[in-house]
Amino acid sequence: MRITRRGILAAGFVGAALLAAPGWAADKLSVVATTGMIADTTRQIGGDAVEVKALMGPGVDPHAYRQTRTDIAAMTRADLVLWHGLYLEAQMEDFFHKLETRGNVVAVTDTLPRDMLKGHDDYAEKYDPHVWMDPKLWVFVSAHIRDTLSEKDPKNAGKYAANATAFIEGLDRLSQYGDSTLGSVPDEARVLLTAHDAFGYFGRAYGFEVLGIQGISTQSEAGLNRIGELVDMLVDRNIGAVFVESSVSDRSIRALSEGAAARGHDVVIGGELFSDAMGKDGTYEGTYVGMIDHNVTVIAGALGGTPPARGMQDKLSAGF
Ligand code: ZN
Repeated sequence: MRITRRGILAAGFVGAALLAAPGWAADKLSVVATTGMIADTTRQIGGDAVEVKALMGPGVDPHAYRQTRTDIAAMTRADLVLWHGLYLEAQMEDFFHKLETRGNVVAVTDTLPRDMLKGHDDYAEKYDPHVWMDPKLWVFVSAHIRDTLSEKDPKNAGKYAANATAFIEGLDRLSQYGDSTLGSVPDEARVLLTAHDAFGYFGRAYGFEVLGIQGISTQSEAGLNRIGELVDMLVDRNIGAVFVESSVSDRSIRALSEGAAARGHDVVIGGELFSDAMGKDGTYEGTYVGMIDHNVTVIAGALGGTPPARGMQDKLSAGF
């Protein structure tokens, strides 16, 4: 097959290599990760043997994100590229499938047992991608990242194994914190209403009914009918709090709360949750554990539970 220049540029690589790529430390394994959750987990497991760059920062919506020229340049120079898969990075799906032929591109959800995944009505034959919402599922992802780092960089395999063991112990503590803290929410208040369907695994893990105004991707608009239906439900079931998400517009959630107020039912915005992106870089909420701790603590507090004021490790910046 004759490869044209246009074809090469479409595939993303050779053209991008002409651009100035950001430098990588020579003595570390260089890794590009798509989401903050993957980047943080890789940093925790890789320690000082890896240098990790995340394509998506705080507040960035992975369903909508497209690679930039700078991203392509960084990926071209990296030893390893980690993406989520399960159609989370929907706009980059084709791009990553092309890259996979290079042999250093790995979807971190590849080894998750498929019988542990949720399907979704919106997408026949596809799974709900939001697996980070259940720390028990994130254990599988963490183990896959450990194995991938070890394969690429065998001389540091012992270090990756030790760091991964410590990180996974932290995930176990996080799971237990979720069980006990969310267990304090009264049964009738166990309804989590958010802008999009990111919390399906969270609901399954902790026994909450989960409703999103939009579907499983942020790419579909919520219709007025859907808002009306949910207002009815808030009023009928006397639900007192709904939640906004840091990576999704709060417009539909505000419409919902105003709709309920017009019917004489007060619904507060229970707080901002980190659904598809973490908090600010350099903060506790900007780590995987901090993100989940924040969500668990905010949800429990807003729905009548009794969480500790500043979360599992007394590290949350905004508590109750
Ligand atoms: Zn999402």
